[in-house]
This record gives sequence, C-alpha cells and structure tokens, in this order.
Amino acid sequence: MSRTAWCITRIIVLGVAAALFAGTTRAQDMARERQAMVDEVAAMARAFDGGTGKGSIDPRVLAALGRVPRHEFVPLLSRASAYDNRPLSIGHGQTISQPYIVAAMTDLLKVGAGDTVLEIGTGSGYQAAVLAELGASVASIEIVEPLAREAGERLQRLGYAGVATRVGDGYHGWPERGPFDAIVVTAAASHVPPPLVQQLKRGGRMVIPIGAAFQTQQLMLVEKRADGALTTRQLMAVRFVPLTGGHD
Ligand code: SAH
Repeated sequence: MSRTAWCITRIIVLGVAAALFAGTTRAQDMARERQAMVDEVAAMARAFDGGTGKGSIDPRVLAALGRVPRHEFVPLLSRASAYDNRPLSIGHGQTISQPYIVAAMTDLLKVGAGDTVLEIGTGSGYQAAVLAELGASVASIEIVEPLAREAGERLQRLGYAGVATRVGDGYHGWPERGPFDAIVVTAAASHVPPPLVQQLKRGGRMVIPIGAAFQTQQLMLVEKRADGALTTRQLMAVRFVPLTGGHD
C-alpha cells in the first residue's frame, strides 16, 4: 500500500470510529434524558395525584414510556426538547401531548397485552406507540392528512407493526376494527361521540377530554359496565386541541 493510500485509509477508519462513538454517546444521552423524563412523570403523579384517585402510574406504563424514542416523534428543530415534560408543536397547529398526560391517560385505560385500542387523533403517533409497547393492537385515526401519513410512516419505520393508522374523522370511530377494549380521544370534544360508545366493548374504558375548544376541558373516564350501562367520572382539568370535523 502506498503512503497516501495508507493515510487515506487511516483517516477513513478514524472518521468511522468517531462517528460510531458520537452516535453511541448521542443514543446514551437520549436514553438518559428519557429516563429523567420518566422519573419526572412518576414524581408528578405522586405529587399531583391527577384526580385519578391514585398517586401513582402503573410501572408497566412508565416502562413503556421509557422505551418509546420520543425524539423520533417531534420535528428535528425540537429534538433538544424531546424529553421535556411538556407538549410540543408538531406542525399543522397540532401538538404532541405532555408525557405526563400521555402516561395518565394510558394508565386510566388499563390496557393489557392483546387488547384492541382505538385512538382518535394520531398526531405524531407517540400515544399509539406507547399503547403498542403495552402489547395492545392499536387502530388510530387522524383527520389531518399529512400528519396521518407521516405518523403512519414513522410508526412503520420504528417497527410498530401493531398500529394501524388511517386518515379520517374519528368522531365516527372505526367500526370495521371494533369493538374495542379501550378508546382514547386525544382532542377535546363537546360531547362523547355516540359511535365511540357503541364501539366500546362491555367492560371497556374510554378516556376523553370534554369541554369547549381553546379553554380547559375535563378529562372524563367513561366505562361501559358488563350490563351495558355507562358510568362517567370527571378526573382532571386538561387542555387539548379541539376535535374538528364539525359535529357540535
Ligand atoms: N395523540 C397525539 C397528539 C394528538 S393532538 C400524539 O401522541 O402525538 C390531537 C390530534 O387530533 C391532532 O393531530 C388533530 O389533527 C387530531 N384531530 C382533531 N380532530 C380530529 C377528528 N375529528 N378525527 C381525527 N383526528 C382529529
């Protein structure tokens, strides 16, 4: 090997090693930040109880939060804030929810492996990924076409094969895939959409923010009892983007 070729080879080898090292430290940084976020969510649940009647979040839900790479679900420019415990803009006037709220809502759904879950408002796909990490089979509907497309591609790229997405008005649910063990609505509605009640299994749970757009809403837990009767419980004040589609 000539001296020049040897030098070039060394530069390439060193370059690749440096890139691999940088990649590893970055991944380690992300994992550390993610764990700090999970710890903060757990502490917030203890301090604040969230009106959910229990001052803790199921460790399985916290572990799921610890596995989902939230930095992959936010725009590149927001990556540095990806593990902050707050909502972030995802474009089109929409947001990825605050991790604490995702954890609290997921906890309320009591999702088990093999459950079927319907989500209204895919947004970034983050909530759907958390549900999939719990072993649920998730159907998620998003009304903004580019968001639906991007989230579908993102979930596929990250290996969340158990999540089906489609563009549409979630008010009407996804009857072909129902009935569901759990339904989560991640946009604020003025009332509980009757089609969603219909698509909830007996013994199933729905979590939905109810109230006026652009004000605080109440997070509601709707349970369909074994005899088909509904019970509703008001849990905590939240602030979500509105459920659009024009069915007030
Ligand atoms: N769950 C999301 C955040 C949701 S933000 C996440 O984890 O990132 C609420 C989303 O609901 C927005 O993307 C908004 O476009 C969508 N949305 C609003 N009205 C809707 C409707 N009628 N049907 C389906 N999606 C709707």
